[in-house]
Amino acid sequence: MDYNINWFENRVKLTPNAVAIIDSDTDDAWTYEQLQQRVTKMVNYFHLHDVRKGDRVAILAPNHIGYFDFLFAAMKIGAIFLPINWRLSEAELEYLLQDAEPKIIGVAPALAGKISILPNNASFINISHNQYIDHLPSKQMTVTTILNEADPLVMIYTGGTTGKPKGVILSHRSILWNAFNTIISWDLNSEDTTLTCLPMSHTGGLNVYTLPLLLAGGKVVIASEFHAEKAVSDLVKYKCTVVLFVPTMYHMMIQTDAFKQTTFRDMKVFVSGGAPCPHKIYEAFAEKGLAFKEGYGLTEAGPNNFYIHPSVAGAKLGSVGKPMLFNDIRIMNEHGEATEINEVGELLIRGNHAFEYYWNKPEETKQTIVNGWIHTGDLARKDQDGYVYIVGRKKDMIITGGENVYPLEIEQWLEAHSNIDEAAVIGLPEEKWGEVVTAFVVLKNKMTETELETYCNQKLTRYKVPKKFFIIAALPKTAIGKINKVALQKVNE
Ligand code: ATP
Repeated sequence: MDYNINWFENRVKLTPNAVAIIDSDTDDAWTYEQLQQRVTKMVNYFHLHDVRKGDRVAILAPNHIGYFDFLFAAMKIGAIFLPINWRLSEAELEYLLQDAEPKIIGVAPALAGKISILPNNASFINISHNQYIDHLPSKQMTVTTILNEADPLVMIYTGGTTGKPKGVILSHRSILWNAFNTIISWDLNSEDTTLTCLPMSHTGGLNVYTLPLLLAGGKVVIASEFHAEKAVSDLVKYKCTVVLFVPTMYHMMIQTDAFKQTTFRDMKVFVSGGAPCPHKIYEAFAEKGLAFKEGYGLTEAGPNNFYIHPSVAGAKLGSVGKPMLFNDIRIMNEHGEATEINEVGELLIRGNHAFEYYWNKPEETKQTIVNGWIHTGDLARKDQDGYVYIVGRKKDMIITGGENVYPLEIEQWLEAHSNIDEAAVIGLPEEKWGEVVTAFVVLKNKMTETELETYCNQKLTRYKVPKKFFIIAALPKTAIGKINKVALQKVNE
C-alpha cells in the first residue's frame, strides 16, 4: 500500500491552530502548527549531523516537549526514535547505549553525568528548557527519504521486570495501528485531553493515550514526573477526559486529600495498566461514582489490546475486558490448543500493532513471534461472556509439590486485608516442595506471621498458603513502579 506514512504532517494541516501539547510544569503550550515548526528545526539539525534512515536518535530526559521534536523528526526522515528511561542506573544505561548505538542523544542537563561511556561519534543536545531548540544550529534540507510502513520508527526497551531489557522495534505501521485501534475502540476524538505523567520512555506514556490522541487531534498535557497531589490538580485544571496511571500511582493518589475532595467532572474514564490492579483501587473509584477500567498491554503489542469505554468500566471486577477491534487474541494451553472457558493458558496476540523484532536479538524474536502470533508470556483465562482475566506471568507461576500456584490470587487476598498495604508472592527453591510459596508484605498496622497465616487459611487452599512470610518496609519497584520480583528472589542468595 502506498500512502503518506507521516500522519503527523497531515494532522497539522487539518488542525493547525488546535493546542497539541501543554507542559504542566511551565504552562507552555504549542499548537499543532507550532509543534510542526519545532519538528522542522529538528529535521534540519538531524540533517546537519548526517542522520540517515535507520539511525537511532535518543532522548534521556523526564517527559519534555523534546520527545515530540525528536519523534516527529524521526518520522520524517526514517530515523529510529529511542526514548531512554532516565531512571536507569549508569550500568544499565551503558548496556543500553552500547546495544542501541544512537547517533544523537538529547540529554537533560541533570542527567549528563550518568553517561560515562559515549557511543561512537554520538552528538549531544542539551535538553534544558523548552526553548532549547531555538539555539540549535541547523541546515535547511529537502527530505527525500522513501519510507515503508514496516520501517522502524520507535525502539523502546522493555522494563526488564523479568530479565535484561530488550529493544522492541515498533514500525510506522505498529504505532499507527495501535493509534487507529485505540481511537476507534476507545472512542477518542479531538475534544479529548489526557495527562501524561507516565514516562514517555515507556510504552504506557507514549502509546496508550499520547500518540493516539495526537492522531485524533486531541490535547496532551505532559508532566515531567508523577506527584499524586499535582496529578489530581492537573487533571482538573486542564479538564482532562482520559488518563492512564499504573497501579502504584493510583495507590498513592487515592490516599491524598486532593483525591478525596475532587469530583473530576470532566473525566470520562480512569485507566490502570502495566501491572495487576489491587481491588482496593477499583473500590476507591466506585465509591466516588467514577468510571475506572483496567487495561492490559505490553510493549511488543501496541500496547493497547482490550476495549475501554466508560460503559464497560466496572463490568467485571479484575477483568481486562474484551479484545479491541483490530487485534486477534488467543489463549492456548501447553499442548497448543485453545483453552476451554475459564481454563488458564498463555495469551497470544496478533495484529498490525505488533512489534517487528527485538533489536540485536534474533533468537528472542523467534521465540516470541511464532507463526505471526506474539507469545506474551502472560497467563490468562476467558469467562463465558468473553471477558479476559490476566492470571499472572508464566515465569512467575509457582510449582509447589506438583501443584500450579498463581501468585496474583494470593496477593489479591492478602491486599484485601485492611492491615496490609501491599503484598508480593514468589516461589523460592526448596528441596522437598520444589518451590515454596513465599509472601512479602508491607503492613499498615501490626500483624504477626501467625495472624497472616490464619488469614490465608480462611480462603486459600492449603498448598497456596505461604509457608514463609517476610514483613518488610517497602516492596522493591522497577523504574515504572512495577513490583520487582527479580529483586525479591535475591533474599535467598
Ligand atoms: P520485561 O518484559 O522486560 O519483563 P516489562 O514487564 O516492564 O519488562 P512491559 O511491556 O512494560 O514490560 O509490560 C508488559 C507486561 O506488564 C505484560 O506482559 C504483563 O505481564 C504486565 N501487565 C500489563 N498490564 C497488566 C494487567 N492489567 N494485569 C497484569 N499484568 C499486566
